[in-house]
Amino acid sequence: MIRSFDTLYLHPGLEDHPRAMELLRRIPYRRLERLERMQELKERMRLEPEATVARGKYSAALAPYPGRMVEGCPATPGMCCCRYRVINLIMGCPFDCSYCILQGYLNRPTIFIYPELEKIFGEVDREIASCNEYPLRFGTGELSDSLALEHFTGFAHPLLEFFRNRPQCWFEFKTKSTRVQSLLEFSPVPGNIVVSWSVNPPGVIGSEERGAPALGSRLKAAQAVSAAGYRLGFHFDPVFHYEGWEDDYRKVVEEIYRRVDPGRVAWISLGTLRYSSWLAGLLQRRFQGHRLLAGELFPVRPDGKYRYPQPLRVEIYRRMHDWIRAFDSEVYVYLCMESAVVYRWALGREVGGDELAVERGFPAPPGWRAGVI
Ligand code: SF4
Repeated sequence: MIRSFDTLYLHPGLEDHPRAMELLRRIPYRRLERLERMQELKERMRLEPEATVARGKYSAALAPYPGRMVEGCPATPGMCCCRYRVINLIMGCPFDCSYCILQGYLNRPTIFIYPELEKIFGEVDREIASCNEYPLRFGTGELSDSLALEHFTGFAHPLLEFFRNRPQCWFEFKTKSTRVQSLLEFSPVPGNIVVSWSVNPPGVIGSEERGAPALGSRLKAAQAVSAAGYRLGFHFDPVFHYEGWEDDYRKVVEEIYRRVDPGRVAWISLGTLRYSSWLAGLLQRRFQGHRLLAGELFPVRPDGKYRYPQPLRVEIYRRMHDWIRAFDSEVYVYLCMESAVVYRWALGREVGGDELAVERGFPAPPGWRAGVI
């Protein structure tokens, strides 16, 4: 786990911004540079992309609000979308998962932190004002881990304050970390906040999620925030297929429900391993011999991403869904980036693309009243 950054880059436009100055005090670093100096990193990156991915985790940049920071999750056309709204407060992550799509974003050779929360919150408010048909779900865990850098950024409290006053939508912290102290210090806990953990069997975590905490530590953190009053989420994503996967994943489901009360779990998502064809070469160079590359994956329509064959994905989802239902008959289970056909065969549910979030029972936050904003 990173205790200090090697280089912290600062954009000159933020030199008077109070939160940027506070971050300069909070974030430990060895060297402070102006953001223009990052150009050198970008030039090296073209020549040595693999080394740049690893090196980029040891530096960070405080950058100004670049325009749009709240967007729909980049769902694949033709796959069912859960309408997740992504808030890009941080882009980049100190963990180093073999399957992480961020490795392909070679235009960002370091972790970017955007301190101008007030501008981002303005965007969120505009989104909320324009949608009263269904409850929006916002989260910061798409292009980063929501809490991995919380001890440096302290973003959790402003986010909690902001969303406490917008009870008509959900806000989700999605993480693999155990940095929950600031959540535990916040009171009262708003009913529309979900803290969710991405989970995998211990063997997969050990080989594929470098730098991320062990399963037991994640679940202990989940128990702590649940006891404090937060709702929980779990994301089995990506699920790997290998000899013995059934036992391993069933035990993770059992371990979750051994530790947490089913009534506290708001949702669980399932998604099997996938990666873009443009990422395949980089993954092969960085993770030769890893589980990621041991399975047979094929380019699949409509997006050409590498996935397990459809019958195998259906089988994995069916089994996992059954194991979850054995403990929890209520929790909302959904698939990430899957087709309507796979939904039907795996979960026995009819979904229609963008209608998924509205029609198929995504739970509503406590402050949601249809048609009222
Ligand atoms: S925790 Fe998430 S964002 Fe971070 S490296 Fe792993 S997959 Fe990528």
